[in-house]
Amino acid sequence: MQKVKLNTPQNVRFLGRVDFPVCEAFYSIQAEGPSVGRAAFFLRTTKCPIFCRWCDSKYTWKEKGKVIEELYVPEVCKLIVVTGGEPLYYKEEISQFIQKHGGCFRFEIETSGAFGPLQKGTNFSVRHIVSPKFKNQAKNWKLSHKYIKDFAERPDTYFKFVLGTESDKKEIVELIKKYDLVNGGIPNRIFIMPEGRTNEEIVCKRDLVVDFCKEYGFIYSPRIQVQLWGMKRGV
Ligand code: SF4
Repeated sequence: MQKVKLNTPQNVRFLGRVDFPVCEAFYSIQAEGPSVGRAAFFLRTTKCPIFCRWCDSKYTWKEKGKVIEELYVPEVCKLIVVTGGEPLYYKEEISQFIQKHGGCFRFEIETSGAFGPLQKGTNFSVRHIVSPKFKNQAKNWKLSHKYIKDFAERPDTYFKFVLGTESDKKEIVELIKKYDLVNGGIPNRIFIMPEGRTNEEIVCKRDLVVDFCKEYGFIYSPRIQVQLWGMKRGV
């Protein structure tokens, strides 16, 4: 019988230099949003201007991060997630990175929405996953609403909201209506996640999210990383 060589993480692809400051680079699974469950390589950038009270990556606010001189990614991996912090501080560098490697990977850019989408014009597969915040969630929540219209007009945008309270529900619905985020009434790009940094906190909020999704036809997004690893970094 012919032997089949499996494409395992021992087979790696050399990507070279990453020109934006990175706090963490690791291979894992996408734990939230439209690609949940898929194997993905994560690049977590530094800095964020939003300051959410329950942020699970507060270390990005202060850490300087560093450029990566030689990046290797498992060949089996087809998805690169650029997350934060706030990756779109580094739009230019990220666009160049995508231009260079877009033939081999699909990209997801996870952003609060504070700096607007990447420029149009690439043929490569890039998704913006935008997560606007609300009054009782973040100090600078208003900043995360600044470019919602620009994001909403792009078919490559998905929205991911964190739900913790009844008042969050009201604000999420108002924002969705104001910018027609469901695109002609089809709510297939709206994901709702339970607020929580521990499994216990998530369990407390998940019924609220289920009921909200049932009421409006939104998509429930788990936060698998909390279940599997809690607050551990780089996993
Ligand atoms: S937008 Fe994201 S990275 Fe920034 S403070 Fe909020 S949760 Fe943390």
